[in-house]
Amino acid sequence: MDPQVVDLRSDTVTRPTPAMRRAMYEAEVGDDVYREDPTVNRLQERAAEIFEREAALFVPSGTMGNQSAIKVHTRPGQEVICEERAHILNHEMGMMSAFSGTVPRAIRAEDGILKWELIAPQIRGRSDHRSRTGLVELENTSNLAGGSVYPRELSDEICDRAHEAGLPAHLDGARIFNASVALGQSVPDLTRKFDSVMFCLSKGLGAPVGSVLVGSKNFIEEARLVRKMLGGGMRQAGVLAAAGLVALEDSPKGLHIDHENAKFLALGLADFPGIKIDPSKVVTNILFLDVSGTGLISFEISKRLAVQRVLANGVTPKTMRMVTHYDVDRAGCERALQALREVLGVKQKKVFA
Ligand SMILES: *Cc1c(COP(=O)(O)O)cnc(C)c1O
Repeated sequence: MDPQVVDLRSDTVTRPTPAMRRAMYEAEVGDDVYREDPTVNRLQERAAEIFEREAALFVPSGTMGNQSAIKVHTRPGQEVICEERAHILNHEMGMMSAFSGTVPRAIRAEDGILKWELIAPQIRGRSDHRSRTGLVELENTSNLAGGSVYPRELSDEICDRAHEAGLPAHLDGARIFNASVALGQSVPDLTRKFDSVMFCLSKGLGAPVGSVLVGSKNFIEEARLVRKMLGGGMRQAGVLAAAGLVALEDSPKGLHIDHENAKFLALGLADFPGIKIDPSKVVTNILFLDVSGTGLISFEISKRLAVQRVLANGVTPKTMRMVTHYDVDRAGCERALQALREVLGVKQKKVFA
């Protein structure tokens, strides 16, 4: 029998559920550039309602959402403050410079979680020499820092202080629903102080395509123009938004299972000789493991796991990332651990009869 692939590369690999496919099939559509797609309009209204904001905008990708926000908030030549591992800096093709003409001011923070004390000294005001700060950007959960979450007091304080300094704050909330589940706090509570928020429908929420920007009516109207500049004005996009609506309503309640599975993997991996991971830091659905003690580089481990139909990516030669989601169940996680045991030649500690 051909065992199913256990795909831990990302939560972007989730496939639409039967309910999503049904909704897509039945979606009422119109031309969204004319604002006439009823399903897109409904998704935007629901997103605005859930986030307790004036307005929302459906965008084809999280990258387009973030980069549209940066474009609206900044002017060319300004600096964008972000954490060193920020998605906007590392995984968005240099667009903050290529498109908005901005310069990243990256700050390293433990677990990817910035504090106002780290940001304050980096703020640049009017000067005859230096570029001025235009925006403060946070990421919750922080993807490349292992799915870590911002305690609400920290992100609230950063927003308050940024505003006092006359700066807008944008949240890359690609996985804000994961943060909400991990913290036991509502999405609007975690995000209300930000001027704009982007969240992804296509990650752990499982929609096939799409992200959403939320903010004030004015901000969203401006972002809408930028989306069009980027070629993101879609026509009968209701077929996509329909899946997004199902994702938004149904999927958040299942995210705790992904978090439990990530913890299960982390606890299992912590027992492997040569692998370093701190399970107490795995609080959402992303885990990073240091494989430098195994004698193999991550990319080689990746290749050997793939032979056993377990997929996980090397990020650097020393580190691998695993991401849990609803297409990998507990049995899949067990199979991933077993495959890694075989790849690394680890003897199983406990044998159950
Ligand atoms: C996935 C992701 C995005 C958006 O990515 P797209 O592939 O463009 O949808 C943005 N920020 C973070 C932190 C992400 O993980």
